[in-house]
Formats: sequence, structure tokens, C-alpha cells
Amino acid sequence: MMEKECFAYKNGRCKALKVQKCEGTSCGFFKTKAQMLEDQERVFKRIKSLDAPSRINIMELYYKGKMSLLDEVEG
Ligand code: SF4
Repeated sequence: MMEKECFAYKNGRCKALKVQKCEGTSCGFFKTKAQMLEDQERVFKRIKSLDAPSRINIMELYYKGKMSLLDEVEG
């Protein structure tokens, strides 16, 4: 089943969305783990390009303030 290739799929459930059951190939949020990591890297690069207050604000809001996540990307 294709949905098992989704980064969010675990034991028939979705870790990312509030759905009872994985929606399978019709799901618009399907992404492989590789695609998810690529997207995440793109997002972190963008955040890294912002001024310090914006960067800190976004990291606190969405990534529990883990600024070290930005160290792992070039930019
Ligand atoms: S395909 Fe959609 S519903 Fe299924 S695990 Fe992935 S994101 Fe969740």
C-alpha cells in the first residue's frame, strides 16, 4: 500500500493529521520521508535567512525554541 510510504503513517494511523484512519492515496498531505526532509530543509533555510527576532519567534512558536535545528542546514 502506497500510504505506508508516507512519513506520517504508523500502524494504520496518521501521526500528522487529526483523522481516525490514514486516508490513503487520496490524501493531499501524502509525502515520503525523503520529501518531508527536503521540505523541512527548505523551510529551515528560509527561516535562517530571516532577521534574528523573526527567526527566534518562529522557532519558539513552531519548534519549541530548538534553535539548534537551524545549525543542521546550510544557508
Ligand atoms: S497519507 Fe495522509 S492520512 Fe495517511 S499518514 Fe500520510 S498524511 Fe496521514
